[in-house]
Amino acid sequence: MSHHCKALILHCIDFRFHESIKNWLKEKGLTNNCDIVSLAGASKGLITPKNPAEPEIILRQIEISSNLHKISQVILMNHTDCGAYGGRDAFVTSEDEHSQHVGDMQKAKKLILKKFPELEVKIILAKINPLEQINFEKVE
Ligand SMILES: [Zn+2]
Repeated sequence: MSHHCKALILHCIDFRFHESIKNWLKEKGLTNNCDIVSLAGASKGLITPKNPAEPEIILRQIEISSNLHKISQVILMNHTDCGAYGGRDAFVTSEDEHSQHVGDMQKAKKLILKKFPELEVKIILAKINPLEQINFEKVE
């Protein structure tokens, strides 16, 4: 029996984002149409992992998703004020924080495309403000 879906999303474990991510997935037509990998720091696990096993774990999930569910897309979703990065206080300015996340996701994208050139990789930054309001930025 085969069952296919469109995408795999890699996002952080942070509970503050769950409802917003669920809504975002719904808006994109991805509810019940994507595999979900949730790891602290999301793309950080591929670029500067705390545990050296993390890159292999993430790439393995993509491989399984690709083989089993025939995904065509990987969505990398980091978020601001991420504990795995030391939170927003770890950065001097919000621009620094933004470019750290974007840079890590772009490196992660390259790494994924090297192993899975047939997949499309999208980069999304989930931004949370001090009032805990969340919005999503699509990075080109
Ligand atoms: Zn996080």
